[in-house]
Amino acid sequence: MDRKDQAPIHILLVCFPAQGLINPMLRLGKRLAANEGLLITFTTIENLGKEMRRSNHDITDQPTPVGHGFMRFEFFDDGLPADDLRRTQYDFYMTQLELAGKESLHKLIKKQSIDGRPVSCIINNPFLPWACDIGEDLGIPCSTLWVQSCALFATYYHYFHKTVPFPTEAEPEIDVLLPSMPALKHDEIASFLHPTRGSYKVIGQAILGQFKNLSKSFCVLADTFEELEHEIIQEMSMLCPIKAIGPLFKDPKGATIKSTIRADVMKADDDCMEWLDSKPLASVVYISFGTVIYLKQEQVDEIAHALLSSTISFLWVVKPPSKDSGLKVHDLPDRFVKETRGRGKVVKWSPQEKVLAHPSVMCFLTHCGWNSSMEALTSGVPVVTFPQWGDQVTNAKFLVDVFGVGVRLCRGEMEDRVISWEEVKKSLMEVMNGTEKAAELKRNALKWKMAAEAAANEGGSSNRNISEFLDEIRKKSLCVSSTSF
Ligand code: UDP
Repeated sequence: MDRKDQAPIHILLVCFPAQGLINPMLRLGKRLAANEGLLITFTTIENLGKEMRRSNHDITDQPTPVGHGFMRFEFFDDGLPADDLRRTQYDFYMTQLELAGKESLHKLIKKQSIDGRPVSCIINNPFLPWACDIGEDLGIPCSTLWVQSCALFATYYHYFHKTVPFPTEAEPEIDVLLPSMPALKHDEIASFLHPTRGSYKVIGQAILGQFKNLSKSFCVLADTFEELEHEIIQEMSMLCPIKAIGPLFKDPKGATIKSTIRADVMKADDDCMEWLDSKPLASVVYISFGTVIYLKQEQVDEIAHALLSSTISFLWVVKPPSKDSGLKVHDLPDRFVKETRGRGKVVKWSPQEKVLAHPSVMCFLTHCGWNSSMEALTSGVPVVTFPQWGDQVTNAKFLVDVFGVGVRLCRGEMEDRVISWEEVKKSLMEVMNGTEKAAELKRNALKWKMAAEAAANEGGSSNRNISEFLDEIRKKSLCVSSTSF
Protein backbone atom coordinates (compact mmCIF):
# COMPACT_ATOMS: atom_id res chain seq x y z
CA MET A 1 0.00 0.00 0.00
CA ASP A 2 1.24 3.52 -0.81
CA ARG A 3 2.18 5.57 2.29
CA LYS A 4 -0.20 8.37 1.38
CA ASP A 5 -3.12 5.91 1.44
CA GLN A 6 -2.45 4.90 5.03
CA ALA A 7 -3.87 6.45 8.19
CA PRO A 8 -1.25 8.87 9.64
CA ILE A 9 1.15 7.42 12.17
CA HIS A 10 -0.57 7.82 15.51
CA ILE A 11 1.50 7.74 18.68
CA LEU A 12 -0.16 7.40 22.07
CA LEU A 13 1.75 8.93 24.99
CA VAL A 14 0.71 7.31 28.28
CA CYS A 15 1.75 9.45 31.21
CA PHE A 16 1.72 8.97 34.98
CA PRO A 17 -0.18 11.84 36.64
CA ALA A 18 2.69 14.04 37.88
CA GLN A 19 3.95 17.34 36.50
CA GLY A 20 7.59 16.19 36.43
CA LEU A 21 6.57 13.34 34.10
CA ILE A 22 4.05 15.31 32.07
CA ASN A 23 6.50 18.02 30.99
CA PRO A 24 9.08 15.83 29.22
CA MET A 25 6.35 13.60 27.74
CA LEU A 26 4.57 16.63 26.32
CA ARG A 27 7.84 18.00 24.96
CA LEU A 28 8.53 14.68 23.26
CA GLY A 29 5.00 14.70 21.83
CA LYS A 30 5.43 18.14 20.35
CA ARG A 31 8.80 17.21 18.88
CA LEU A 32 7.40 14.07 17.24
CA ALA A 33 4.22 15.80 16.04
CA ALA A 34 6.25 18.52 14.39
CA ASN A 35 7.84 15.87 12.15
CA GLU A 36 6.11 14.81 8.97
CA GLY A 37 2.48 14.96 9.98
CA LEU A 38 2.41 12.56 12.91
CA LEU A 39 -0.68 12.51 15.09
CA ILE A 40 0.06 12.43 18.82
CA THR A 41 -2.50 11.67 21.52
CA PHE A 42 -1.45 12.48 25.07
CA THR A 43 -3.22 10.60 27.83
CA THR A 44 -3.17 10.53 31.61
CA ILE A 45 -5.91 10.17 34.23
CA GLU A 46 -9.14 12.10 33.79
CA ASN A 47 -8.84 13.75 37.21
CA LEU A 48 -5.59 15.45 36.17
CA GLY A 49 -6.96 16.15 32.71
CA LYS A 50 -9.60 18.32 34.39
CA GLU A 51 -6.92 20.41 36.10
CA MET A 52 -4.85 20.65 32.92
CA ARG A 53 -7.89 21.94 31.02
CA ARG A 54 -8.50 24.53 33.74
CA SER A 55 -4.98 26.02 33.39
CA ASN A 56 -4.41 25.61 29.63
CA HIS A 57 -6.97 26.39 26.94
CA ASP A 58 -5.59 24.07 24.25
CA ILE A 59 -6.07 20.79 26.13
CA THR A 60 -8.75 19.33 23.86
CA ASP A 61 -9.56 16.07 22.12
CA GLN A 62 -9.54 17.87 18.77
CA PRO A 63 -6.22 17.69 16.89
CA THR A 64 -4.28 20.96 17.31
CA PRO A 65 -1.60 21.69 14.68
CA VAL A 66 2.01 21.45 15.90
CA GLY A 67 4.58 22.00 13.15
CA HIS A 68 3.65 19.56 10.37
CA GLY A 69 1.66 17.32 12.70
CA PHE A 70 -1.10 17.36 15.27
CA MET A 71 -1.56 16.84 18.96
CA ARG A 72 -4.70 15.98 20.92
CA PHE A 73 -5.59 14.98 24.49
CA GLU A 74 -7.86 12.23 25.75
CA PHE A 75 -7.97 10.98 29.34
CA PHE A 76 -8.68 7.66 31.03
CA ASP A 77 -10.44 6.76 34.26
CA ASP A 78 -8.51 5.56 37.31
CA GLY A 79 -11.66 4.24 38.96
CA LEU A 80 -11.71 6.78 41.81
CA PRO A 81 -14.20 9.60 42.37
CA ALA A 82 -12.99 13.14 41.54
CA ASP A 83 -10.77 14.64 44.28
CA ASP A 84 -10.32 11.30 46.09
CA LEU A 85 -7.59 11.93 48.67
CA ARG A 86 -6.15 8.43 48.19
CA ARG A 87 -4.47 9.53 44.93
CA THR A 88 -1.59 10.92 47.00
CA GLN A 89 -1.20 7.71 49.02
CA TYR A 90 1.13 5.99 46.59
CA ASP A 91 1.07 2.63 48.42
CA PHE A 92 -2.62 2.42 47.66
CA TYR A 93 -2.73 4.39 44.44
CA MET A 94 -0.11 2.58 42.35
CA THR A 95 -2.11 -0.67 42.68
CA GLN A 96 -5.42 1.08 42.09
CA LEU A 97 -4.08 2.81 38.98
CA GLU A 98 -2.84 -0.45 37.53
CA LEU A 99 -6.10 -2.28 38.27
CA ALA A 100 -8.54 0.32 36.98
CA GLY A 101 -6.22 2.19 34.61
CA LYS A 102 -5.24 -0.89 32.67
CA GLU A 103 -8.84 -1.62 31.79
CA SER A 104 -9.81 1.92 30.86
CA LEU A 105 -6.60 2.52 28.90
CA HIS A 106 -7.26 -0.70 27.00
CA LYS A 107 -10.70 0.68 26.05
CA LEU A 108 -9.26 4.04 25.08
CA ILE A 109 -6.79 2.36 22.71
CA LYS A 110 -9.47 0.22 21.09
CA LYS A 111 -11.66 3.31 20.68
CA GLN A 112 -8.90 4.94 18.59
CA SER A 113 -9.29 2.19 15.99
CA ILE A 114 -13.07 2.54 15.97
CA ASP A 115 -12.63 6.31 15.49
CA GLY A 116 -10.37 5.70 12.49
CA ARG A 117 -6.99 6.55 13.99
CA PRO A 118 -5.48 3.23 15.12
CA VAL A 119 -2.51 3.55 17.46
CA SER A 120 0.80 2.80 15.72
CA CYS A 121 3.00 3.02 18.81
CA ILE A 122 2.62 3.50 22.57
CA ILE A 123 5.16 5.48 24.56
CA ASN A 124 4.84 5.10 28.32
CA ASN A 125 6.82 6.30 31.27
CA PRO A 126 8.28 3.86 33.74
CA PHE A 127 5.81 4.55 36.55
CA LEU A 128 3.23 2.75 34.36
CA PRO A 129 5.15 -0.32 33.18
CA TRP A 130 1.84 -2.14 32.60
CA ALA A 131 1.14 0.09 29.57
CA CYS A 132 3.62 -2.19 27.73
CA ASP A 133 1.51 -5.24 28.67
CA ILE A 134 -1.46 -3.64 26.92
CA GLY A 135 0.72 -2.94 23.88
CA GLU A 136 1.81 -6.55 23.84
CA ASP A 137 -1.80 -7.81 24.15
CA LEU A 138 -2.94 -5.62 21.27
CA GLY A 139 0.13 -6.13 19.09
CA ILE A 140 1.15 -2.47 19.24
CA PRO A 141 4.87 -1.64 19.47
CA CYS A 142 5.90 0.07 22.72
CA SER A 143 8.67 2.37 23.64
CA THR A 144 9.47 3.96 27.01
CA LEU A 145 10.44 7.52 27.85
CA TRP A 146 13.00 7.54 30.66
CA VAL A 147 12.91 10.92 32.37
CA GLN A 148 15.86 10.57 34.68
CA SER A 149 19.55 10.53 33.92
CA CYS A 150 21.23 7.58 32.24
CA ALA A 151 23.24 7.17 35.47
CA LEU A 152 19.94 6.45 37.23
CA PHE A 153 18.86 4.10 34.45
CA ALA A 154 22.12 2.19 34.93
CA THR A 155 21.59 2.13 38.70
CA TYR A 156 18.14 0.56 38.39
CA TYR A 157 19.36 -1.80 35.68
CA HIS A 158 22.23 -3.16 37.76
CA TYR A 159 20.07 -3.32 40.88
CA PHE A 160 17.42 -5.29 39.02
CA HIS A 161 19.98 -7.69 37.50
CA LYS A 162 21.92 -7.93 40.79
CA THR A 163 25.26 -7.37 39.03
CA VAL A 164 26.86 -5.40 41.89
CA PRO A 165 26.24 -5.22 45.66
CA PHE A 166 23.76 -2.60 46.90
CA PRO A 167 23.09 -1.62 50.53
CA THR A 168 21.20 -4.33 52.42
CA GLU A 169 19.63 -4.49 55.86
CA ALA A 170 22.81 -6.14 57.11
CA GLU A 171 25.10 -3.63 55.36
CA PRO A 172 23.01 -0.48 54.90
CA GLU A 173 25.90 1.93 54.37
CA ILE A 174 28.08 0.35 51.68
CA ASP A 175 29.14 2.33 48.60
CA VAL A 176 27.72 1.25 45.24
CA LEU A 177 30.31 0.72 42.51
CA LEU A 178 28.79 0.87 39.03
CA PRO A 179 30.59 0.85 35.68
CA SER A 180 31.60 4.28 34.30
CA MET A 181 30.42 6.09 37.43
CA PRO A 182 32.00 7.53 40.55
CA ALA A 183 31.33 5.45 43.69
CA LEU A 184 27.90 6.29 45.04
CA LYS A 185 27.46 6.49 48.78
CA HIS A 186 24.42 4.77 50.27
CA ASP A 187 22.59 8.11 50.41
CA GLU A 188 23.47 8.94 46.80
CA ILE A 189 21.68 6.02 45.14
CA ALA A 190 17.99 6.51 44.30
CA SER A 191 16.48 6.39 47.76
CA PHE A 192 13.75 4.02 46.55
CA LEU A 193 16.46 1.35 46.30
CA HIS A 194 17.67 1.70 49.86
CA PRO A 195 16.57 -1.31 51.94
CA THR A 196 15.66 0.47 55.14
CA ARG A 197 15.39 4.20 54.55
CA GLY A 198 13.57 6.59 52.26
CA SER A 199 9.99 7.39 51.28
CA TYR A 200 7.75 6.13 48.49
CA LYS A 201 9.29 2.67 48.09
CA VAL A 202 6.30 1.72 45.96
CA ILE A 203 7.50 4.11 43.23
CA GLY A 204 10.80 2.22 43.15
CA GLN A 205 8.80 -1.01 42.75
CA ALA A 206 6.93 0.45 39.77
CA ILE A 207 10.19 1.55 38.13
CA LEU A 208 11.69 -1.89 38.70
CA GLY A 209 8.53 -3.27 37.05
CA GLN A 210 9.64 -1.40 33.93
CA PHE A 211 12.99 -3.18 34.03
CA LYS A 212 11.15 -6.47 34.26
CA ASN A 213 9.16 -5.39 31.21
CA LEU A 214 12.13 -3.93 29.35
CA SER A 215 12.03 -6.51 26.55
CA LYS A 216 8.53 -5.24 25.69
CA SER A 217 9.94 -1.81 24.75
CA PHE A 218 11.67 -1.76 21.40
CA CYS A 219 13.43 1.46 22.43
CA VAL A 220 14.09 3.44 25.62
CA LEU A 221 14.20 7.16 24.90
CA ALA A 222 16.18 8.99 27.56
CA ASP A 223 15.89 12.70 28.31
CA THR A 224 19.64 13.22 28.49
CA PHE A 225 22.30 13.76 25.83
CA GLU A 226 25.33 11.80 24.73
CA GLU A 227 27.87 14.53 25.44
CA LEU A 228 26.65 14.84 29.05
CA GLU A 229 26.77 11.15 30.00
CA HIS A 230 28.93 9.76 27.25
CA GLU A 231 30.47 6.69 28.87
CA ILE A 232 27.38 5.62 30.79
CA ILE A 233 25.22 5.87 27.67
CA GLN A 234 27.77 3.87 25.66
CA GLU A 235 27.86 1.24 28.37
CA MET A 236 24.08 0.96 28.69
CA SER A 237 23.43 0.95 24.97
CA MET A 238 25.38 -2.31 24.79
CA LEU A 239 22.91 -3.81 27.27
CA CYS A 240 19.60 -2.47 25.97
CA PRO A 241 18.19 -0.29 23.16
CA ILE A 242 18.57 3.12 24.81
CA LYS A 243 18.74 6.36 22.84
CA ALA A 244 19.58 9.76 24.34
CA ILE A 245 17.20 12.33 22.88
CA GLY A 246 17.42 15.23 25.33
CA PRO A 247 17.27 17.82 26.50
CA LEU A 248 13.70 17.68 25.31
CA PHE A 249 12.94 21.20 26.45
CA LYS A 250 15.42 22.64 23.95
CA ASP A 251 13.88 22.90 20.51
CA PRO A 252 16.26 22.53 17.57
CA LYS A 253 17.27 25.86 16.05
CA GLY A 254 14.82 26.92 13.34
CA ALA A 255 12.37 24.13 14.24
CA THR A 256 8.72 24.54 13.35
CA ILE A 257 7.59 23.31 16.75
CA LYS A 258 6.37 26.71 17.95
CA SER A 259 3.29 25.69 19.87
CA THR A 260 1.58 27.22 22.83
CA ILE A 261 0.33 23.86 24.09
CA ARG A 262 1.23 23.46 27.76
CA ALA A 263 0.00 20.99 30.33
CA ASP A 264 0.74 22.76 33.59
CA VAL A 265 -1.39 21.67 36.48
CA MET A 266 -1.18 25.24 37.82
CA LYS A 267 -1.26 28.57 36.06
CA ALA A 268 2.06 30.42 36.17
CA ASP A 269 2.23 33.82 37.81
CA ASP A 270 1.94 36.26 34.91
CA ASP A 271 4.33 38.95 36.04
CA CYS A 272 7.45 36.85 36.88
CA MET A 273 9.13 37.78 33.64
CA GLU A 274 8.39 41.51 33.94
CA TRP A 275 9.78 41.42 37.45
CA LEU A 276 12.96 39.69 36.22
CA ASP A 277 13.27 42.31 33.46
CA SER A 278 13.52 44.95 36.18
CA LYS A 279 16.56 43.28 37.80
CA PRO A 280 20.24 43.69 36.85
CA LEU A 281 22.01 40.98 34.87
CA ALA A 282 23.01 37.87 36.85
CA SER A 283 21.64 39.17 40.14
CA VAL A 284 18.73 36.87 41.07
CA VAL A 285 18.56 33.48 42.74
CA TYR A 286 15.61 31.38 41.59
CA ILE A 287 14.27 28.98 44.24
CA SER A 288 11.97 26.05 43.56
CA PHE A 289 11.57 22.55 44.97
CA GLY A 290 9.54 21.09 42.13
CA THR A 291 6.06 19.72 42.35
CA VAL A 292 6.07 16.86 44.82
CA ILE A 293 8.39 17.82 47.66
CA TYR A 294 6.77 19.39 50.67
CA LEU A 295 9.33 20.94 53.01
CA LYS A 296 8.81 21.09 56.76
CA GLN A 297 7.61 24.51 57.91
CA GLU A 298 10.84 24.86 59.99
CA GLN A 299 12.88 24.42 56.80
CA VAL A 300 10.88 27.09 55.00
CA ASP A 301 11.51 29.38 58.00
CA GLU A 302 15.28 28.83 57.70
CA ILE A 303 15.28 29.61 53.98
CA ALA A 304 13.22 32.75 54.61
CA HIS A 305 15.65 33.77 57.34
CA ALA A 306 18.64 33.25 54.99
CA LEU A 307 17.03 35.54 52.43
CA LEU A 308 16.06 38.13 55.05
CA SER A 309 19.61 38.23 56.38
CA SER A 310 21.18 38.77 52.93
CA THR A 311 20.79 41.40 50.25
CA ILE A 312 20.30 38.84 47.46
CA SER A 313 17.42 39.30 45.00
CA PHE A 314 15.25 36.21 44.69
CA LEU A 315 12.29 34.68 42.92
CA TRP A 316 10.87 31.93 45.16
CA VAL A 317 8.20 29.42 44.18
CA VAL A 318 6.22 28.50 47.28
CA LYS A 319 3.81 26.06 45.71
CA PRO A 320 0.64 25.35 47.69
CA PRO A 321 0.30 21.61 48.39
CA SER A 322 -2.29 19.83 46.26
CA LYS A 323 -5.71 20.04 47.82
CA ASP A 324 -5.92 16.23 48.04
CA SER A 325 -2.86 16.06 50.27
CA GLY A 326 -4.31 17.50 53.47
CA LEU A 327 -1.04 19.47 53.95
CA LYS A 328 -0.96 23.10 55.12
CA VAL A 329 0.06 26.02 52.89
CA HIS A 330 3.49 27.24 54.12
CA ASP A 331 3.65 30.45 56.13
CA LEU A 332 6.34 33.06 55.62
CA PRO A 333 7.42 35.21 58.57
CA ASP A 334 5.20 38.31 59.06
CA ARG A 335 7.97 40.78 58.27
CA PHE A 336 9.18 38.80 55.22
CA VAL A 337 7.18 40.43 52.43
CA LYS A 338 7.65 43.95 53.82
CA GLU A 339 11.39 43.62 54.41
CA THR A 340 12.19 41.99 51.06
CA ARG A 341 9.88 44.18 48.96
CA GLY A 342 11.62 45.26 45.76
CA ARG A 343 14.36 42.64 45.86
CA GLY A 344 12.25 39.52 46.34
CA LYS A 345 9.20 37.95 44.78
CA VAL A 346 7.25 34.91 45.99
CA VAL A 347 4.97 33.10 43.53
CA LYS A 348 2.88 29.94 43.59
CA TRP A 349 4.07 28.67 40.19
CA SER A 350 6.52 30.09 37.67
CA PRO A 351 7.15 29.56 33.96
CA GLN A 352 10.40 27.84 35.01
CA GLU A 353 11.95 27.24 31.59
CA LYS A 354 11.61 30.93 30.74
CA VAL A 355 12.81 31.98 34.18
CA LEU A 356 16.00 29.93 33.86
CA ALA A 357 16.67 31.38 30.42
CA HIS A 358 16.37 34.97 31.74
CA PRO A 359 19.70 36.84 31.90
CA SER A 360 18.94 38.23 35.37
CA VAL A 361 18.97 34.73 36.88
CA MET A 362 22.37 33.84 38.30
CA CYS A 363 21.69 30.74 40.38
CA PHE A 364 19.04 28.09 41.05
CA LEU A 365 18.42 26.69 44.51
CA THR A 366 16.86 23.39 43.43
CA HIS A 367 15.62 20.06 44.77
CA CYS A 368 17.41 18.46 41.75
CA GLY A 369 14.48 16.75 40.05
CA TRP A 370 15.84 15.62 36.68
CA ASN A 371 13.74 18.14 34.71
CA SER A 372 14.93 20.99 36.87
CA SER A 373 18.51 19.72 36.71
CA MET A 374 18.45 19.53 32.90
CA GLU A 375 16.65 22.85 32.56
CA ALA A 376 19.29 24.57 34.73
CA LEU A 377 22.31 22.83 33.28
CA THR A 378 21.32 23.45 29.70
CA SER A 379 20.28 27.05 30.34
CA GLY A 380 23.76 27.75 31.69
CA VAL A 381 22.59 28.36 35.28
CA PRO A 382 24.72 27.11 38.23
CA VAL A 383 22.86 25.41 41.07
CA VAL A 384 22.76 25.05 44.83
CA THR A 385 21.59 21.49 45.39
CA PHE A 386 18.90 20.71 47.95
CA PRO A 387 17.85 17.12 47.15
CA GLN A 388 15.39 15.17 49.29
CA TRP A 389 14.70 11.68 47.91
CA GLY A 390 14.31 9.46 44.85
CA ASP A 391 16.63 10.32 41.98
CA GLN A 392 17.28 13.81 43.36
CA VAL A 393 20.14 12.59 45.56
CA THR A 394 21.99 11.04 42.61
CA ASN A 395 21.33 14.09 40.45
CA ALA A 396 22.79 16.34 43.16
CA LYS A 397 25.93 14.19 43.27
CA PHE A 398 26.37 14.46 39.49
CA LEU A 399 25.58 18.19 39.32
CA VAL A 400 28.27 18.90 41.90
CA ASP A 401 30.96 16.25 41.39
CA VAL A 402 30.64 15.23 37.75
CA PHE A 403 29.09 18.10 35.78
CA GLY A 404 30.78 20.75 37.96
CA VAL A 405 27.88 23.20 38.01
CA GLY A 406 26.86 23.30 41.64
CA VAL A 407 27.54 23.37 45.34
CA ARG A 408 25.99 20.90 47.73
CA LEU A 409 23.74 22.29 50.44
CA CYS A 410 22.38 19.03 51.83
CA ARG A 411 22.37 15.28 51.31
CA GLY A 412 18.64 14.54 51.41
CA GLU A 413 16.01 13.14 53.73
CA MET A 414 18.37 10.50 55.14
CA GLU A 415 20.22 13.30 56.94
CA ASP A 416 16.96 13.91 58.78
CA ARG A 417 17.76 17.46 59.87
CA VAL A 418 16.69 20.99 59.16
CA ILE A 419 19.34 22.89 57.19
CA SER A 420 20.14 26.11 59.04
CA TRP A 421 19.75 29.58 57.55
CA GLU A 422 23.51 30.12 57.91
CA GLU A 423 24.21 27.10 55.68
CA VAL A 424 21.63 28.21 53.12
CA LYS A 425 23.09 31.71 53.02
CA LYS A 426 26.69 30.45 52.77
CA SER A 427 25.88 28.19 49.78
CA LEU A 428 23.99 30.94 47.98
CA MET A 429 26.89 33.35 48.51
CA GLU A 430 29.34 30.79 47.11
CA VAL A 431 27.51 30.82 43.78
CA MET A 432 26.46 34.48 43.76
CA ASN A 433 29.53 36.30 45.07
CA GLY A 434 31.78 36.50 42.02
CA THR A 435 34.69 34.38 43.36
CA GLU A 436 36.82 32.09 41.15
CA LYS A 437 34.69 29.13 42.29
CA ALA A 438 31.49 30.91 41.19
CA ALA A 439 33.09 31.79 37.84
CA GLU A 440 34.11 28.16 37.30
CA LEU A 441 30.57 26.90 37.96
CA LYS A 442 29.23 29.43 35.47
CA ARG A 443 31.83 28.46 32.84
CA ASN A 444 30.90 24.80 33.20
CA ALA A 445 27.18 25.54 33.01
CA LEU A 446 27.69 27.56 29.82
CA LYS A 447 29.74 24.71 28.36
CA TRP A 448 26.81 22.30 28.96
CA LYS A 449 24.36 24.81 27.55
CA MET A 450 26.28 24.91 24.28
CA ALA A 451 26.70 21.14 24.18
CA ALA A 452 22.95 20.69 24.78
CA GLU A 453 22.08 23.08 21.98
CA ALA A 454 24.43 21.28 19.60
CA ALA A 455 22.88 17.91 20.56
CA ALA A 456 19.33 19.19 19.95
CA ASN A 457 20.07 20.99 16.66
CA GLU A 458 19.90 19.48 13.18
CA GLY A 459 22.69 16.92 12.85
CA GLY A 460 23.30 16.83 16.62
CA SER A 461 23.38 13.54 18.57
CA SER A 462 19.89 13.79 20.10
CA ASN A 463 18.35 15.07 16.89
CA ARG A 464 19.81 12.12 14.97
CA ASN A 465 18.55 9.69 17.60
CA ILE A 466 15.02 11.09 17.32
CA SER A 467 15.17 10.71 13.53
CA GLU A 468 16.33 7.10 13.91
CA PHE A 469 13.50 6.45 16.33
CA LEU A 470 10.97 7.89 13.87
CA ASP A 471 12.37 5.66 11.14
CA GLU A 472 11.85 2.66 13.40
CA ILE A 473 8.28 3.72 14.13
CA ARG A 474 7.55 4.14 10.45
CA LYS A 475 8.81 0.63 9.74
CA LYS A 476 6.88 -0.84 12.65
CA SER A 477 3.67 1.01 11.81
CA LEU A 478 3.73 -0.59 8.36
CA CYS A 479 3.62 -3.96 10.12
CA VAL A 480 0.89 -2.83 12.56
CA SER A 481 -1.31 -1.42 9.80
CA SER A 482 -1.29 -4.80 8.13
CA THR A 483 -2.69 -6.45 11.31
CA SER A 484 -5.87 -5.54 13.16
CA PHE A 485 -7.03 -5.67 16.75
N1 UDP B 1 8.04 23.80 37.17
C1 UDP B 1 7.45 24.94 36.64
N2 UDP B 1 7.18 25.96 37.50
C2 UDP B 1 7.45 25.93 38.82
C3 UDP B 1 8.06 24.77 39.35
C4 UDP B 1 8.36 23.72 38.49
O1 UDP B 1 7.20 25.02 35.43
O2 UDP B 1 7.15 26.91 39.50
C5 UDP B 1 8.33 22.68 36.25
C6 UDP B 1 9.82 22.56 35.97
O3 UDP B 1 10.18 23.39 34.88
C7 UDP B 1 9.99 21.08 35.69
C8 UDP B 1 8.88 20.42 36.50
O4 UDP B 1 7.96 21.46 36.87
O5 UDP B 1 9.81 20.81 34.32
C9 UDP B 1 9.40 19.76 37.78
O6 UDP B 1 10.04 18.58 37.42
P1 UDP B 1 11.28 18.02 38.23
O7 UDP B 1 11.69 16.75 37.56
O8 UDP B 1 12.33 19.04 38.34
O9 UDP B 1 10.75 17.79 39.68
P2 UDP B 1 9.53 16.98 40.32
O10 UDP B 1 8.43 17.96 40.42
O11 UDP B 1 9.21 15.83 39.41
O12 UDP B 1 10.05 16.57 41.65
